[in-house]
Amino acid sequence: MSEITAIRGMNDILPSETACWQFLERTVAAVLSSYGYDEIRLPLVEKTALFKRSIGEVTDIVEKEMYTFDDRNGDSMTLRPEGTAGCVRAAIQQGLLNTPQRLWYTGPMFRYERPQKGRQRQFHQTGVEAFGVATPDMDAELILLCAQIWRQLGLLDSMELQLNSIGSAEARRAYREALVDFLQARVEQLDEDSQRRLHSNPLRILDSKNSQTQSVLDDGPSLEDFLDEEASADFARLCELLQAAGIQYVVNRRLVRGLDYYNKTVFEWVTRELGAQGTVCAGGRYDGLVGQLGGKATPAIGCAMGMERLVLLLLEHGQATAPPAADVYVVAAGDAAQGIALAATQALRCQQPQLRIVQHTGGGSFKSQMKKADKSGARVALIWGEDEVAAESVTVKSLRAQNGERAAQVTVALRELETTLCAALAP
Ligand code: ATP
Ligand code: MG
Repeated sequence: MSEITAIRGMNDILPSETACWQFLERTVAAVLSSYGYDEIRLPLVEKTALFKRSIGEVTDIVEKEMYTFDDRNGDSMTLRPEGTAGCVRAAIQQGLLNTPQRLWYTGPMFRYERPQKGRQRQFHQTGVEAFGVATPDMDAELILLCAQIWRQLGLLDSMELQLNSIGSAEARRAYREALVDFLQARVEQLDEDSQRRLHSNPLRILDSKNSQTQSVLDDGPSLEDFLDEEASADFARLCELLQAAGIQYVVNRRLVRGLDYYNKTVFEWVTRELGAQGTVCAGGRYDGLVGQLGGKATPAIGCAMGMERLVLLLLEHGQATAPPAADVYVVAAGDAAQGIALAATQALRCQQPQLRIVQHTGGGSFKSQMKKADKSGARVALIWGEDEVAAESVTVKSLRAQNGERAAQVTVALRELETTLCAALAP
């Protein structure tokens, strides 16, 4: 029979990688908690209209990346391509917007993209959203929080913070007009994608990776000159706060982000160590979105980090990947021994819950079980054979003799198992 394989771009995360994932997830959660953020868990599927209304109809995500389908009732739903929309939907629906709210979530997102290193169709993001504060101290907090995560992961030196302000909706409208006027006269010099975007989403042209397009833009209007006073002042204040906190950044006036809902501050954390997929975390302010999704007007800012890209970075930095070997391997030859061993090990797990104890399963001779114990990488074997059963004892055997010395082995009464084992495992 032919083999059924996974869907392209939807990867298995193997046991050899999960230790790294767990380290990442644990570290991120601990830092978020230390800043007073609370976790929220959201559905993977939402009504399609939610993403169309929030992300914007003429964005890459909505135009060509969403997994959208009708359920059996004929209602259109979509596998979430990002987390902000669902988080805002939940915050409105569950009445979480009365006071400043600091929330985070983590989990899989789905986008129909061309799979490559650091780009999958099912990928994972951890997102952070802060509601109810319009002032740039909130922007600074979010950026400091990211920096703290990178520091705790040992990745701070690999990251560059790029920062921009895209101002109010009116400022962007005026800028868009000036930009389109300017580019219209030079349309034949633009790359194909940018020509198409000129009429659908001209600000995205600033993002173009095409060097000729970029040099055309060099003489074009700058978004900075169109910023309203409030946005300029807030941006200046944010820069001041970051400097005071010792956070380095680069102002990138062409950073606009691909989602419609942003205003004022936008930022990206970028690394040079991952090639083309260098943006590890991206975010910005979205003061209009809560109102746009039917809630009472509430300022907000958020960001999302790509977990696969962080894992790639951690692996490049030599973060240990193999799952830890077992501490203890339990050998029990014969039915009576098996019963006693199972019960004794269960008790041991209550007394020493941090130990990784692997019970031999599937029977076999004493010799073959001992071979498995040696191979397991465990430091100690607990052995129940006929003699131990008869004497109500257990043998504790060190499996990793150091400097060629003979492996130590003692047989003790069952009630001395815990202390003997702990002594054998002590460094
Ligand atoms: P890109 O320009 O790389 O496509 P984006 O602007 O579409 O990124 P966002 O929607 O801002 O990305 O998502 C935030 C972060 O999530 C990205 O910076 C990246 O780290 C990660 N991310 C986004 N799309 C993918 C994907 N398809 N596979 C893996 N990670 C992704
Ligand atoms: Mg993208």
